[in-house]
Amino acid sequence: MKGISHWIDQRSIITPNRLALIDDRRNLTYLEMSKMINRFAGVLQSTYSIKKGDRVGVLSMNSIDFIIVLFSMAKLNAVAVPLNIRLTVDELEYQLKDSGLQTLIVDNDNHTKGKELLNRTLFQLLTFETINLAKTEQLTPTEIDSAAPYIICYTSGTTGRPKGAVLTQENMFWNAINNTVGLDITSKDKIITLLPLFHIGGIGLFTLPVLLSGGTVVVPERFDPEQALEYIEKHEITIVMGVPTIHDSLRKSPSFETTNLTSVRFFYNGGAPCPEELIRWYLEKGISFGQGYGLTETSPTVFLLSEEDYHRKVGSIGKPVMFTEIRVVDEEAKEVSPGEYGELLVKGPTVMKEYYNLPEETAKAIQNGWFATGDIVRQDEEGFVFIAGRKKEMIISGGENIYPLEVEKVIYELPDVDEAAVIGVPHDKWGETPIAFIVLKKETNFTDEKLKEYCTKKLARYKVPSIFKIVSALPKNATGKIDKATLKKFYLEEVMSL
Ligand code: ATP
Repeated sequence: MKGISHWIDQRSIITPNRLALIDDRRNLTYLEMSKMINRFAGVLQSTYSIKKGDRVGVLSMNSIDFIIVLFSMAKLNAVAVPLNIRLTVDELEYQLKDSGLQTLIVDNDNHTKGKELLNRTLFQLLTFETINLAKTEQLTPTEIDSAAPYIICYTSGTTGRPKGAVLTQENMFWNAINNTVGLDITSKDKIITLLPLFHIGGIGLFTLPVLLSGGTVVVPERFDPEQALEYIEKHEITIVMGVPTIHDSLRKSPSFETTNLTSVRFFYNGGAPCPEELIRWYLEKGISFGQGYGLTETSPTVFLLSEEDYHRKVGSIGKPVMFTEIRVVDEEAKEVSPGEYGELLVKGPTVMKEYYNLPEETAKAIQNGWFATGDIVRQDEEGFVFIAGRKKEMIISGGENIYPLEVEKVIYELPDVDEAAVIGVPHDKWGETPIAFIVLKKETNFTDEKLKEYCTKKLARYKVPSIFKIVSALPKNATGKIDKATLKKFYLEEVMSL
């Protein structure tokens, strides 16, 4: 199989003048994009000696340059390691050493961080500018092994230290195919990449699928709801993908009501549980709103909900994508019946090669080609899948299982609630007990007693959180997911010590 940069080279022949990329500063056609990839790859190869298998870190805000570097790496059969710009120098140092980086490419905003890292560990530090200004070098073609490592993508670290998922160009190709087929992506589509490109969501949803299809990718430097709305209208965006916090900030933006959204085919949620209220809010306004599900380890898409089911199956993450198989199993690895909860296993050409440098974790996670997601789901009679939560987050209280998502769903039914997160904490008598962190809407005089009263009516007693802690905001990670590890730490350190 040819590598993924082949897509752009071919597009530069078939549709050279079509717009491929737009960022805050400029636009590139497919012909310009292909030339730039070849130039970057040439410079990286001859001036900076990057070759097949070398690992190159990228520490940057979203930009055209970032995407060009990703494709240049594909062209050289080298390995890109996108790094989270929100990490501290200490945390980055760990990832740099963990992934054995020889080269780090930074944008101007992250240059200082790059230099600090250079003082601590040995590698070559480049900026997009240095590569851009370097003398044009002729690229010696590399024979592409598309099953070789292409991206080491770190997981979000929701359940522990981020793990480096090793993904291949083949993985990325099949993910692009699955999304293209599943969502009818065509050359007429224009997406806005609101997730960071250092996260699999930014790369796989839907940057690469849209570039395979010959559409246009608009890539703002960072997520700013007002600017995003402006771009949606100005560039006639057709797909708006995001995590729940993105969709929530868009609807709360002052310009939302006056933005012309007629070009948008659908808004799409993935990456974190989406409150049904949020989905219904969009649907009731006549705006299509769908859901998908994925993980870093599966490049990422596993499920997509089709447009004809948006209204009928609110809350479902849909059905498996075209080339992915799933199983839902119990503790004994036996398949469960529809309606029953079990762990989701995934098999197919998008499953990662391995966790970088973690052979034991890899062996635990992938058995006979089946990747264990650690997520608990159930299927309805029609095969639509609903996610209950993460196995690691399941709370066992007095021997009973509690899925935080089930409790959060009830709390979200209250119109006074803006955000909710339920976690399990140690309890002397029950082993664990659920507690809830709540952000209330402005101008409400709702109280923790009222929250408790409502939950007691709606949930079995053992599922009712023993504490409702009203806070002004919930901590979020770089992709906008609620950071439950920090909440737990906060509870253990601060609330317990009161
Ligand atoms: P880590 O593996 O380091 O703990 P993480 O699991 O958050 O972090 P990601 O790969 O970014 O890393 O996220 C994948 C997870 O996100 C899935 O396992 C699932 O729990 C959650 N997820 C993805 N899509 C959805 C969705 N539509 N609804 C609910 N949860 C989702």
